[in-house]
Parts: sequence; structure tokens; C-alpha cells
Amino acid sequence: MPVKVLVVDDDRTNSEIIAQLLKVHGYEVSRCHDGRQALEKLASSQTPFDLMLLDLRMPAMDGFEVLRNVREQDALRHLPVIIMTASSESSDAVAALKLKANDYVTKPVDFTVLLARIEKELALKRVMQALVESEERYALAVRGANDGIWDWSLEANTIHFSTRWKFMLGYEDGEIGDSPDEWFGRVHPEDAERLKASLDAHLDGGTPHFECEHRILDKHGNYRWVLSRGVAVRTGAERPNRMAGSQTDVTERTVYDPLTGLPNRLLFCEQLLRSLARARRRSGYHFAVLGVNLDNFKMINDSLGHGVADQLLVSIAHRLQEVLRMGDTVARLESDEFVVLLDDLRRFADVEPVVVHILESLRTPVVLSGKELFPSASIGVVHFNNSYERPEEILRDAQIALHHAKANGGARIVNFDSAMQTRASRRFTLETILRHALENDAYRAYYQPLVSAESGRIVGFEALIRLHHPEMGLVPPAEFIPLAEETGLVVQLGGWILEAACRQTRAWQLEFDDHELSISVNLSARQISVHDIVDRILNILNSSGLPAHCLHLEVTESAMIENADRARLVLQQLRDLRIGISIDDFGTGYSSLSYLQRFPIDRLKVDKSFVQRINQEDESAKIVQTIVLLARNLGMEVVAEGVETADQLAAIRALTCDLIQGYFFSRPVDAAEAGELLRRERESRVASGFPQRKE
Ligand code: C2E
Ligand code: CA
Ligand code: CA
Repeated sequence: MPVKVLVVDDDRTNSEIIAQLLKVHGYEVSRCHDGRQALEKLASSQTPFDLMLLDLRMPAMDGFEVLRNVREQDALRHLPVIIMTASSESSDAVAALKLKANDYVTKPVDFTVLLARIEKELALKRVMQALVESEERYALAVRGANDGIWDWSLEANTIHFSTRWKFMLGYEDGEIGDSPDEWFGRVHPEDAERLKASLDAHLDGGTPHFECEHRILDKHGNYRWVLSRGVAVRTGAERPNRMAGSQTDVTERTVYDPLTGLPNRLLFCEQLLRSLARARRRSGYHFAVLGVNLDNFKMINDSLGHGVADQLLVSIAHRLQEVLRMGDTVARLESDEFVVLLDDLRRFADVEPVVVHILESLRTPVVLSGKELFPSASIGVVHFNNSYERPEEILRDAQIALHHAKANGGARIVNFDSAMQTRASRRFTLETILRHALENDAYRAYYQPLVSAESGRIVGFEALIRLHHPEMGLVPPAEFIPLAEETGLVVQLGGWILEAACRQTRAWQLEFDDHELSISVNLSARQISVHDIVDRILNILNSSGLPAHCLHLEVTESAMIENADRARLVLQQLRDLRIGISIDDFGTGYSSLSYLQRFPIDRLKVDKSFVQRINQEDESAKIVQTIVLLARNLGMEVVAEGVETADQLAAIRALTCDLIQGYFFSRPVDAAEAGELLRRERESRVASGFPQRKE
């Protein structure tokens, strides 16, 4: 059954985009535009919603009101709610978390972050559900009371723990005895002293009641954050003889990261907010923020497992804390993303030695479960300047600098500069355009002819996408395809162009009475991993009426090897349907013969870099010749791409390529012009500029 998500936002564009993206990821989505409507929908829905995405600021009934309402209803008390808040309103997020929102994302919503948060909430919900179910088997006494109760007889030195108290740590009633060690022995070593101090302070009469937030180990080996509160019972004697209290699980709303005990994003942002305020008040005050990321964390996680990866994170957290001064803050945002606030710096130059020191300390090998690991980290540095108003802006720039450090090979320090900002904001603009491209009709399909080397006739086209933006004009794919790959939007884009191209080609087939006219469409790695990609392609073929053998899908070598097993399976299914499979940009990648044979490829496109050097370098001509021979032996057709000059054409023809594509015949043009090319060619029976064939 699909997971049902309710998106509540008065900003219709935002909710529409989120809904679309969630649908792409297989969620069932409903939308509402105000709070009251949302409550009605939650109440009236036949099958319950699994999660709600809730905007806080809405005119009629705001998100806080909805949240309060939802948490008061038995049926909805445990509904996971992720709120969406403008990044400028971090106090909103805090307030909503206090009202038991499960998590939050800032607007504009980063969809990958949102997806990760949704998945996390759904996983938590499943756990909660299991808890509730088992809880229902418990005695009446447990019901209702959410807090665990403890009752400590100081004379006998035994503690009675309530069933709920034990249950909070994952234990059944009989599994925990009445020794104080059942509690204190489970407290995180770093919190033990603090807990003891506050107990002593209260028992000595120094505080009116005892209260301490600390981590405690649960049955599954995870630390949970709990708030323990209590009062000593004094019956005239100097030392009390009894003390009782409660334990509340605050893991969910805590501002600390349970794994490392470091502040989390929320607390870090609060700290940053204070530094920003101070910087505005005091001249000469300066601070810097560092984004710190491990270069090889994913690899460690994948190869050595979560347990080792978690230990590594804990030891990294310790190292960071060790090298920093009092007053500096280190936090963990998520996974292996750490941030550091270097506060109250005298000079800009003070940052560098600290950063170098951090990098060195992180580089020391760690031994974990008998294995020696060599962590390597990258650091992005942002210095405060007056243009910053919000913590999120600084964190964003630290991430941008960090991104550059990693993109340049990792194990390095990169200072944020304004050129990065320019690039990042262009990237951001592009990402926004991409996200809205469908609804704004911003995609354009361009077509470049593929010409038969023998007859000189146009046998088909390659469809090439463009992005049209009122201010930026036509954006070439080199600028946005990588971004679309990264964000997953390439799936949507790929679907759009496939449909446009198939429909157009079918129209030309009918218009020019040429039922063999073919179309080549690029297929990206991300599309191959879409679970029902074959069905989607088949649906498009069916609805356009284009025969399957007239469609060629172009896949690069890297897309094939990225996920070779999956790619082979999908391509085989497509091939079985008689769809053509071309290997694109051949020669730039892996290109081994044995590897090629594993895939059902029937056409090979020689990369344009070889074609363009063909008359300048013997080497290139030899490579092309070898490729042609190789392809022939494997029964494949060969296309030479990027043919720009008559000389290149002559050389290519001498090497007996089957098909030719390039500016020499035509640049990629829009559908109207491509139709015009076909018309002229069909009239003259020869492609423009093509030398007459010698009979
Ligand atoms: P590609 O698949 O290798 O496409 C061929 C590229 O070579 C096109 O660039 C085309 O305009 C260019 N080209 C063709 N003839 C010549 C020539 O004679 N000289 C030179 N210098 N270039 C020539 P374009 O359209 O800018 O596309 C760049 C890349 O973007 C494509 O390379 C492809 O990897 C990607 N791309 C384009 N459209 C799509 C799409 O719809 N889906 C996906 N996934 N990728 C696409
Ligand atoms: Ca291509
Ligand atoms: Ca190519």
C-alpha cells in the first residue's frame, strides 16, 4: 500500500511541487491550503494518513493551531508531522518542536533533505506502532502515564522502577531489578558526573528539587535522552530517607545529538544567532564557521557497517572537541556533517592555524574493532561579514565551500568566496527553474539529424533537450543535466523529452510516409534505476504510436557500469521489445571489449573528440578504425558524432561508419526547422551539403 502524505501549505506552488516530487517517489499525496481544511481531511479520510507536511504560517488557521489540535486527538497523537518553516524563523521551529512536531525543514525546501526526513519519520512511526501494540498488552497502571516512575529507598539503597520506566529503555518488567545500578550503571559516562552532582546537591538540601537531563543506554544499545526529576522525602531526619521521581524520554525534542552528545542543528543555529547579534553590536568581533566532512565516510559505512561508522563518528566528535578552545562550538548536523563555530576571534588570520590543526587531528588513524581506519576530512570555511543575517546563510556557504573542497579531491581546506556564491546562486536559480520546468513549459526538444553515410539521407534524429528561461534564454544541457542528475529531476526531464520526441517522430513518419524514421533519446543512469522504467517507456511508445524499433536509447558507458547488473537487466528488457540501445560517447570511458559484450548494444556512437581530431592525428584515425572494426565484429552499427567539416566527413566515410551526425549537416534545431530539413531533403533526395554518392 502506498504511503499517504498530507501536504498543508497556503503557498500553492510550493505544495504542488512537493506533491509532484513525492508522487515521483511513490507516495500518495493529498494537498490542502489551510489549517481547517487539513483537520477536516485528517478526520474524514477513510484510510489514515501516514505523515503530514505542515506549513506554519498560514492566514486562516496557522500550523501551530493545527499541530495543537492534532496532538490532542487520540487518533492523531502519533501522526508524524514535519513542519516547513521559513529559514528566518528558527524560533518557529523550536516552538513547533515543543508542540511535538516530529521534525522540520526550512523553506525553500531542499527535496533530498525532505525525503530523508520523511523516511526517518516513517521508520520511527513503525517503531512507535510496534511499541504501542506491545504496550497495549501491559497492565492498566501503565496506560496513560507517559513518564516512568522511580522510588528510591535510601536506607535500603534499593530503587523500585515502574514498568513504564523499564519499558522506556526497552525492557520487560522482570528484566530490571531494584538496584540503583540499574539506573546509574546505564548512564552515559560523560553525563554520570553531572547526574551525581545534581542528585547530591538536592540530597544535601541545596536545591528545591532534583532535575537532570542525561543519556541512558537502552536495551538495544542506543543512548536515549531522558529528563529525570525528583524530590527527596524528609521526615525530620537530617538526611532524607527516601526520594522519588519520574523519567521522561526527551530524545525527540532534545537539542543534542544522541550518538555523539554534540549539539544538533537547532542548538548550533541558536548559538550562531547569538554570534550574529554580537557581531552586529560589537566592532572588532569576528567569528568563523567551518563545515567539516569526512571524505570516505560512505565507503566506511558501506564496507564496515553502521556500528563501526557510528564509533568513528563518536571518535571524530571527540577529536574536534579536543582541539577547540572553550567558547567554540562543535555540532553534528547529520550523518558525517559536522560544523564548528570559532567564536570571538581577534583577527581573520587566527582561523587558519585552528583549521590546519583540526585537519591534522582528524587525519590520525583510528582503530575500530581491530581495523585501522585512515579518516580524511575536508573543511569549508566561512568568515563572518556584514552581509550575513541568518544562521542558515552561513551554514549554506560553509556547505558550498565544503562542496568545493570535496569536489577538488578532498582532504583539503577551502575558504568560501563570492565567486562560489555566484556559481552557487546560478545553480540555485537553475535548480528552481528545473523544479518548475514542467508546469512552466520550460523544456524544449531540439533535434539533430542522423544521416546515412551511404545514401546521405536523414534516417533519424537525436532529441536533445534545452531549458528555456525568460531571463537566461536557452540554457544548454551541459549546465543543467549534471544538476538534474544530482537532484533526480533528470527522471522527470527524461520522461518529458521521450514523450515529446516519440510523438514528434510519429507525426513525421505519417507526414513523410517514412515508417522507418527513427529517434534517439538519451537515457540517464538515474532513469535506469527507476523501478518501472520499462513500463514507462512502453506506455510512451503506445500512446505516441511509434513502433518500438524506431526508438533508440542512448546510454553512456559510465551509466552502464554505475549499476551494471540493473543496467543489463533493463537494457535487455528494452532490447527484447525491439528498442535500439546505443552506447554514447564511446571511447571516453571504460571501453573494454569484454565489458561491451555483456550488454545488449546494437549501436555505437564514436565520441566527437576522436572525430574532430581525425585529420590532425594519426592516432585518432586509428582509434576510430579500431572502433569500427570492433563494432562490426559485434554486429553493431557505428555512428560518428560531431562531424563538422567536409574533411572530417571524407575521413569518416573512408572508415565506413554507418551513420553521421554533426554540425556539418545541421546543428540541433527545433521541431519546425527539423521538419523543414526533412521536407527539403525528401524533395531533393539528398541531405544538404552531402557530396553526391559516386555510383
Ligand atoms: P550527447 O548525447 O553526446 O549529445 C551530443 C552533443 O554534441 C549535443 O550537445 C550536440 O549539440 C553536440 N554536437 C552535435 N554535433 C556536433 C558537432 O559537430 N560539433 C560539436 N562541437 N558538437 C556537436 P548538447 O545538445 O549540448 O548536449 C550535451 C549533452 O547533454 C548530451 O551529449 C547529453 O549527454 C546531454 N543531454 C542532452 N539532452 C539530453 C536529454 O534529453 N537527456 C539526457 N539524459 N541527457 C541529455
Ligand atoms: Ca547522445
Ligand atoms: Ca554523444
